[in-house]
Amino acid sequence: MNFGFFMLKIGLTGGIGSGKTTVANIFKVLGIPVFDADTVAKNLMENDPVLKKKLLAQFGPLVFEHDKLNRKWLAGIVFNDPYQLELLNAMVHPITLSAAENWFVGMDKPYGIKEAALLFEAGAGAGLDYIIGVFAPQHIRIQRVMQRDGLNREEVLSRIDRQASDTIKMKLCDFVILNDDQQLLTEQVLALHHKFLELAK
Ligand code: ATP
Repeated sequence: MNFGFFMLKIGLTGGIGSGKTTVANIFKVLGIPVFDADTVAKNLMENDPVLKKKLLAQFGPLVFEHDKLNRKWLAGIVFNDPYQLELLNAMVHPITLSAAENWFVGMDKPYGIKEAALLFEAGAGAGLDYIIGVFAPQHIRIQRVMQRDGLNREEVLSRIDRQASDTIKMKLCDFVILNDDQQLLTEQVLALHHKFLELAK
């Protein structure tokens, strides 16, 4: 079917607490579909039988609690051991990547957004037309995540340290949204929305 536009595949990324989900929610209000890779990954971990089996074999029964992913426990393991984090990513990334590819197929919108903390790692950005980075200074991210997740400063810092440098990632993005409590987010998102509608024509 021809809808009169090319459907663009847009990536949305940024470090922990940068404001990806907040930005994604504004795009949703504008009617743009958002694929939340972290939520999809969690659903697959709980519901895909092959992946579940792999997780149990690697991490043992504590990885699930009443059939729900024990996120806090697993985070405690992988954020303190880069090898375990790498193993987890190697199990979860490929299946999430194909879920995203299938999600974009046949979408009748000018563009769709794939939101993921890790887009430049493990080929997760493959096939995307443009990538938006959300950037916030580190002290703001720490405050926001401490407040949101009830973590202490050290716990947030150790999670930030496990991710590749945000400053480098932003250089790889086509567009950067600055979420620093100074610039209005909605104006920045609207400007990108109009740009993508033009590009999709
Ligand atoms: P993560 O990678 O950890 O999922 P994220 O990049 O998706 O984080 P958000 O969850 O959008 O980040 O934002 C982190 C916290 O900061 C949330 O509680 C959110 O409500 C808050 N926040 C984000 N942007 C702003 C803002 N401009 N003003 C006030 N609070 C904000």
